[in-house]
Amino acid sequence: MKLHGLHHVTAVTSQAQANVEFYTQVLGMRLVKKTVNQDDVSAYHLFYGDEMGRAGTELTFFDWAHIGRNHSGVGAISGAALRVAGQEALRWWAERLTQHAVPHSDIVEFHGHAMIRFTDPEGQALALVDDAGAAGGIPWSRSPVPPAYGVRGLYASTLTVSDLQRTGHVLTAVMGYEQTKTYATGSGERTAVFELNGGGAGKELYVVEQPAGRPARLGAGGVHHIAFRVPDADSQLAWRNRLAAAGLAVTEVIDRYYFKSIYFRIPGGVLFEIATDGPGFTTDEELEHLGERLALPPFLEPYRAQIEAGLTPLSQGSAGRTG
Ligand code: ZN
Repeated sequence: MKLHGLHHVTAVTSQAQANVEFYTQVLGMRLVKKTVNQDDVSAYHLFYGDEMGRAGTELTFFDWAHIGRNHSGVGAISGAALRVAGQEALRWWAERLTQHAVPHSDIVEFHGHAMIRFTDPEGQALALVDDAGAAGGIPWSRSPVPPAYGVRGLYASTLTVSDLQRTGHVLTAVMGYEQTKTYATGSGERTAVFELNGGGAGKELYVVEQPAGRPARLGAGGVHHIAFRVPDADSQLAWRNRLAAAGLAVTEVIDRYYFKSIYFRIPGGVLFEIATDGPGFTTDEELEHLGERLALPPFLEPYRAQIEAGLTPLSQGSAGRTG
């Protein structure tokens, strides 16, 4: 019984329109689903991914217009790394980020991977990692980014905690990760690498330990939770039993319509989810038209008029590559 790596990362924005423009027009990801937060239908839930939002390619956002800005600290997910194929792609991205005035690092190396660190307009900590062309998502053909350089999914996520051992124990003893290396990454700070099945794209977590760190406060520019992949509902139930047997408080299975989810908080405060690969985003929209209109799961469809009245319409801008 093994997890199949990252399924999605869900972050927070307070500026939905600017968020759509940045992720589709600058990063060139496809808005594969424009729906609402099922637990707070006054908020959009925006899913960006590859051409069809395959599991493992999705970066998603809750749109909470009135939330304050994120305060980084311990007990939080503190970063997400996206994957592109090859060093040439990274060089192309360094130039593109500069052209779009996106703050970014040079091409740096961490744990043997070449990467560029950057932030979105709300300060979301992101990176682009060279995945060396490993199997992955297929960038949308109508993206403004040439397909050869397109974002192919999630590479890794970073957690910041006060006690590495407590968090590491859940990752290794319960979730099947192996702690492979630890790096000194700052004064009084170290970063441990946890790998699933030998690591690589989607199968690495970086855990930063800041023993004296202040608790994080979630806001715009922060991450709400990360989700891990299981192939189907049966393996999800097996995982639910395993988490419960390990003493973790795990929710019932929640049908999110595009996938099924269970949630649990690990010691140290971070919220995790385990989600099924399917049925996926083409379950209620044609592949060609994903994300164009507000999609609602059947149980919310009767309330469409009310829900739409509570949302500010979003424009996708000028989708499509020019020239
Ligand atoms: Zn989720």
